[in-house]
Amino acid sequence: PHVAAPDPQAGAAVKAADRAHVFHSWSAQGLIDPLAVAGAEGSYFWDYDGNRYLDFSSGLVYTNIGYQHPKVVAAIQEQAGKLATFAPAFAVDVRSEAARLIAERTPGDLDKIFFTNGGAEAVENAVRMARLHTGRHKVLSAFRSYHGATSTAINLTGDPRRWASDTGTAGVVRFWAPFLYRSPFYSENEQQECERALAHLEDTIAFEGPATIAAIILESVPGTAGIMTPPPGYLAGVREICDKYGIVFVLDEVMAGFGRTGKWFAADNFDVVPDLITFAKGVNSGYVPLGGVAINAEIAATFDKRPYPGGMTYSGHPLACAAAVATIQVMEDEKVVEHAAHIGENVLGPGLRELAERHPSVGDVRGLGVFWAIELVRDRETREPLVPYNAAGEAAAPMAAVGSTMKKNGLWPFINMNRVHAVPACNVSESEVKEGLAALDVALSVADEYTA
Ligand code: PLP
Repeated sequence: PHVAAPDPQAGAAVKAADRAHVFHSWSAQGLIDPLAVAGAEGSYFWDYDGNRYLDFSSGLVYTNIGYQHPKVVAAIQEQAGKLATFAPAFAVDVRSEAARLIAERTPGDLDKIFFTNGGAEAVENAVRMARLHTGRHKVLSAFRSYHGATSTAINLTGDPRRWASDTGTAGVVRFWAPFLYRSPFYSENEQQECERALAHLEDTIAFEGPATIAAIILESVPGTAGIMTPPPGYLAGVREICDKYGIVFVLDEVMAGFGRTGKWFAADNFDVVPDLITFAKGVNSGYVPLGGVAINAEIAATFDKRPYPGGMTYSGHPLACAAAVATIQVMEDEKVVEHAAHIGENVLGPGLRELAERHPSVGDVRGLGVFWAIELVRDRETREPLVPYNAAGEAAAPMAAVGSTMKKNGLWPFINMNRVHAVPACNVSESEVKEGLAALDVALSVADEYTA
């Protein structure tokens, strides 16, 4: 792709204004140094100094068809010229069409779409629907999960980012989902992990009181927490448990949905149909904010004669819906979902496993489609993580060195704790993946120096 001519002066001005006035999420404002981005195209973006980066993070794992896809950009421009906005209570052509295209791709009878502006709002509304549908209050969510940063969503989140804003929302109960590499159940194999995780979930339900539980929410494949593909049979087992106790089964596919796992929805990999699916990100590659809840017939019917008490001014915004219609069309025309599966099976997965063979710092490789994580360890035997922070809470040398080596070699990673996630666009090319793996190879040699 084209890279703009370097213009460090313009970059410095952008950066100075950013530092003066932009308050960044998840950051200590005085400690950050955000890269000034000059442009992006496909799998690449570039700065004002003439550096180009291969984006192995897909932004925040959402540019599923890469940056600036001309057909999606044109659809947004065309919609802006035609009808830039219209309130949610009206039927609007692109909104109807986006809902139809999404409903046709969700599993089972999840055929009604409630639009939101992003993932957290989708989670908030899924929980509200489940509570009103069941007349129950509690929601079970997993440790090692991320569901968003709004009040309910952050409380459902299992990862430590919730600690600072945990208001102790009544009724959120956390349980352990399966993860063999660091098994909470000391399991020795996938089958054992699956059985023990299901037994633990059912115990949790028994002790909380089945009649008090509205919903169980899980990421089909937990993303931010480490891309932990569930063992075969786990999600089907949760489905059975939900049916047994009349609990609404919510799958959060905000990150895993829309092609990332090599299927339209990650649930399709496990032949499981939840009651509600939350989505966002990949639905329109994030060109305009959009999220939503796909609702099954039974829960939708709860609100046939009784109003659903929830909604946002910009729900189903025409620009966002036009982007979704165009994105889904591009994904069909260019066989993007099939391509993501192919890349995972034949290029990215094997490539990462090959790196793991040569680098003692790689403790585990896991994932599917274009949704992969490698876990870096000090010692493969003990699985001691390559610590992300030192005792003072500063980014510790090993992971910081891994990240900066990648960037020096033109690869923009998604790094979380002791993990490097390889989550490129679903339409990343084979040669781009190979280029990324080569840069990762160099960075892992740096990580190796910190192994025991
Ligand atoms: N759920 C999952 C699984 C996510 O990965 C995310 C964001 O990363 C969210 C919810 C929150 O989405 P948003 O940041 O759009 O509110």
